[in-house]
Amino acid sequence: MTRHSEATQQWWERARHAIPGGVNSPVRAFGAVGGTPVFIVRGQGPYVYDLEGRRYIDLVQSWGAVILGHAHPAVTEAVKRAAADGTSFGMPTTAEVELAETIAGAIPSVEMVRLVNSGTEAVMSAVRLARAVTGRPYVVKFEGCYHGHSDGMLVRAGSGAAVYGAPQGTSSPASPGVSPGAAGETLLARYNHLSDVEALFDRWGDRIAAVVVEPVAANMGVVLPEPGFLEGLRELTRRHGSLLIFDEVITGFRVGWSGAQGRLGVTPDLTCLGKVIGGGLPVGAYGGPRALMEQVAPAGPVYQAGTLSGNPITVAAGLAVLRELARPGVYERLEALGQRLAEGLRQSAREAGVALSVVQMGGLVGIAFAEAAPTDFDSARAADAGRYARFFHAMLERGVHLAPAMLEAVFVGLAHDEAVVDAVVEAAQAALIESAR
Ligand code: PMP
Repeated sequence: MTRHSEATQQWWERARHAIPGGVNSPVRAFGAVGGTPVFIVRGQGPYVYDLEGRRYIDLVQSWGAVILGHAHPAVTEAVKRAAADGTSFGMPTTAEVELAETIAGAIPSVEMVRLVNSGTEAVMSAVRLARAVTGRPYVVKFEGCYHGHSDGMLVRAGSGAAVYGAPQGTSSPASPGVSPGAAGETLLARYNHLSDVEALFDRWGDRIAAVVVEPVAANMGVVLPEPGFLEGLRELTRRHGSLLIFDEVITGFRVGWSGAQGRLGVTPDLTCLGKVIGGGLPVGAYGGPRALMEQVAPAGPVYQAGTLSGNPITVAAGLAVLRELARPGVYERLEALGQRLAEGLRQSAREAGVALSVVQMGGLVGIAFAEAAPTDFDSARAADAGRYARFFHAMLERGVHLAPAMLEAVFVGLAHDEAVVDAVVEAAQAALIESAR
């Protein structure tokens, strides 16, 4: 395990004294892998630098938010310029119109979009809209998918909720304090098990407002949708008058310019976005067809608001990122880098004689210490967490920062060039052998 200097230990003590668990979001703590987190003082391109001057290749990327890498000149410049003109107005700006138009131009399901401040808010608001337009109470959610920490979504949730939350029974919430009423309106199904969803619709069809799903699940490691799964959800929701909500907070602008929906050819009713579209500043968005989105206040009666929504600095950063992503060849390059990493890791695992499953789509890579790629929450959790923890620390010692928990994604971005990807693979070769012991 990486040994830290006195300074890091002292800051960690202060952090735990001043902030619950020392962190402002649970997955950042090293609870799942052991040890003490490193304190980051700056980032540049594919690298982050810690308090002790150590450099790491960053495969966390602010949990997928900084797809261009850290301190990209275009983003830095846009942020500086926007900040010099004022940090927030609470009045309309032209830039937020441009960002909305750009998103609508990219994502097939989106004609209109509302900006919010987090993915949590985006999903919470999309669910409210779905309930409003259908007049129905229930929402179908998949075990192991994470849609932020709103009450109704903290049931059998993935990501940090799976590690740090309360033990989750079949439909018990992942946290004390979640309203039983809210949790009770969330119906659970297993990812990739269309028959579960069929059974729910058979029983509750006229009470289900929406099915919410990560079109590529990225909060239980990465689990790809099996052929027919998303198509089946589209068909069932349409047949029963429910809405299909794609949570593309991670996949949006990461697996392709048109998101997972464009890439996989299934168009939801509502789409939630976040992360990439804010260039590393707080952001979320939800969008859909005009007829649905015009139900949102003040165009319609469904209330949703935000003092800092459409914040000018966030919007400037987001526009700068999307301008870079719109350049020809960018997603081909991201795909190639993702494939290079995935193939390199597979090869290293074969050589080390370690059972490692690696899946990849665009700048999203998932690894699981298992014979076969996980297909749902149960198989994802059955992967070898102890081995992941050893691998994590062996990589950290070699200057590669993975997510400090097994049920997370590996994020590759446009700053991870071939040499950086190859350096990750080289570190993995040794770390896989070491962690197999
Ligand atoms: N949906 C998905 C798919 C996510 O991965 C996340 C966060 N990782 C969220 C929603 C919540 O976003 P936020 O943390 O910005 O509230």
